[in-house]
Amino acid sequence: MLKLEKIEKAAELIRTAKYAVAFTGAGISVESGIPPFRGANGLWNKHDPIFVEIEYFHKKPLESWKKIKHVFYDMFDQAQPNPAHIALAKMEKRGFIESIITQNIDNLHQKAGSKYVYELHGTSRTLSCIECSTEYELNFVDLNFLPPTCYICKGILKPDIVFFNEKIPAFALKRSTEESLKADVFIIIGTNAEVLPAADIPVKAKENGAIIIEINIQESHFTDTITDVFIKGKASEIMEKIATYLYL
Ligand code: NAD
Repeated sequence: MLKLEKIEKAAELIRTAKYAVAFTGAGISVESGIPPFRGANGLWNKHDPIFVEIEYFHKKPLESWKKIKHVFYDMFDQAQPNPAHIALAKMEKRGFIESIITQNIDNLHQKAGSKYVYELHGTSRTLSCIECSTEYELNFVDLNFLPPTCYICKGILKPDIVFFNEKIPAFALKRSTEESLKADVFIIIGTNAEVLPAADIPVKAKENGAIIIEINIQESHFTDTITDVFIKGKASEIMEKIATYLYL
């Protein structure tokens, strides 16, 4: 099938779906200027991932925070939603998709206007005190003084992103699982989903009968196993075209 035919088919599946859900990973934000973790231009080629290990954070909070600020705040703050995030937000508004399950922590789906976003790996938008658990919106925290501390108990603040060796937020995991089981069309965009339990969510949707559409610049381990319609290409280009077919 030609690429344009696949795009048209995907749009038709989404248009006629009873309950379509999107599942996104680092690839959807690459064209917003945020590199993925792995691969030639990946973050882990430039930075040792030890700074997001929870044990290291507790042992050396200042060292960890210097990197966190540079990677997750200075870089992410400048990023803006690209046409793929915008297409998904429009699709939700017009009732073509119900929700987005994301592994991203960059807040770009919300910036684009999406309302039902389940963040499996947490978010950089809020921070919590490691002593008393008070939660702070980023706007209330001054990152010019590191490590940032709690106004109430002076404990160190940690971004609410899931560090290595930390648990996935229970609410996001529960809602993501529920959404995957309700879906009759499931759209995977820009992810290898190599880490459990995220990797299992599209599999659950498939086992429950959902049709799987996948968009990626290259094949992932989903492509030959659960994907029904694979569209090779950049997320922004493909999602913009799908949105056009849906008259968005
Ligand atoms: P990954 O880095 O393992 O893989 C990225 C995927 O995106 C690959 O399959 C790649 O082929 C694809 N891709 C790259 N550019 C693309 C494009 N323009 N259009 C479509 N697809 C493209 O990322 P992952 O599988 O999502 O998971 C790894 C972890 O990385 C997750 O836990 C996530 O939290 C984290 N992460 C998040 C961000 C972010 O918030 N933007 C950035 C880096 C890493």
